[in-house]
Amino acid sequence: MFVRKYLKRKIYMPYIKVFLISIVCMSILLIFIPMVITHIVPDNMRDDDKDNASYPYDKVDLPKTISVYRTESGSVDKLPFEEYIKGVVSCEMPSTFHSEALKAQAVAARTYSAAKVINSETYGNPSAHPSAPLCDSTHCQVFKTEKELRNIKGSEWMKDGYEKICDAVDDTKGKLLYYKGELVQQALFHSSSGGATENCEDVFTAAVPYLVSVESPYEDEATHQDEETSFTVSEFASLVRSAYPSTDFGNISSDNIKIISRSSGNRVDKIKVGSGALTGRQIREALGLSSANFTIDISGDTITFTSNGSGHGVGMSQYGADGMAKKGYSYKKILSHYYSGTEIY
Ligand SMILES: [Zn+2]
Repeated sequence: MFVRKYLKRKIYMPYIKVFLISIVCMSILLIFIPMVITHIVPDNMRDDDKDNASYPYDKVDLPKTISVYRTESGSVDKLPFEEYIKGVVSCEMPSTFHSEALKAQAVAARTYSAAKVINSETYGNPSAHPSAPLCDSTHCQVFKTEKELRNIKGSEWMKDGYEKICDAVDDTKGKLLYYKGELVQQALFHSSSGGATENCEDVFTAAVPYLVSVESPYEDEATHQDEETSFTVSEFASLVRSAYPSTDFGNISSDNIKIISRSSGNRVDKIKVGSGALTGRQIREALGLSSANFTIDISGDTITFTSNGSGHGVGMSQYGADGMAKKGYSYKKILSHYYSGTEIY
C-alpha cells in the first residue's frame, strides 16, 4: 500500500510542479504586462474612457431628425440628425485633417446642433430663419447634403474624404459635451488661434466658463500666419470712418494710431484711432483682417497690419486640434483642452 502511494506521488510530482510554475508565471504576466503598457503608452494617448462609467446627470435625448433652413433655395430640409452632422463636418473641416481632429469636430458640431434644436423647442427658432432651428451658412454651421457634396467635390473625394468623415462621426455617434451636468450651449470653434484662444467675454459679450483662453501650441501647419495687409493712412481712415460713422475720430494721422491693450489670448483689445478708440474686433471687421491678433507697423504714409490666426479665436482651434491629434492626443483630450472643464458622454 505504502509502495503504491509512493510510486503514484513520484509519477505525478513533475506534472504538479509544472502546473504550479505555470500558475505563478501566468499571474506575474497578468500583473506586470498592464503595468508595463501603462508606462510605455504616453499620457496624451491614454484616454480616461468614461464610456462605461455611470453618468451622474440626466443625458440629453438627441433628436432623431433635424430641420435645416437652406439659405439659397429658402426651403427647409428634414434629414436624419447624424447624416446632418456628416454634412457639417464635411464643410467645416478639411477631410485631410487627422481622424481624431475630425472626431473632435463631430462632437463639437453635434453638441452645437443639439443645443440649438432643444432650445428652439422652448424659445422658438431664430428670427434670421423662423422656419428651422439651424441654417446651412456660417450664421449657424455650414452644411451640404451628400448629393451636393458629390457634385462639388467629386466621386473620388466621396470615396476617401467623405468616408473618413463618416467614420469620425460614426465612431463618436451620439456623444455630446456637458459642463457640470448641463449640455454645452456654445461649442464654438474657429480656424486657427495664432497661439492662444480667447476668453469669450473678450470677443463676444458674456463670459462662458468653458470658453476661456488656453494655449494652442501646435498650429505650425495653420494658414494665415504672419499675414501682412497694408493701407495708406488715408485708406485706413476712410475704411474705419465708413464702418463706424457715429464714432468721432477727429484727424486720423500716422501719429495717433496705437494699440492700447491686448486680451489674454494676445488679440488687440483696444486701439486708439485719431481721437477715438475701437476694439480689435471692430478693426478686424472694418479692414477685413483674418484675426484681431495683429501688430501694427507704420512707416511713412503706410500702415501694415501683421495678423496671426483666422476667425474669432473662441473655443476649439481647428488647426490646433489637428496639431494636437498629430502629436498623439485623442479627440477627448482635444475637446477637454479647448472646452475647459467639459465632459463627453
Ligand atoms: Zn443660422
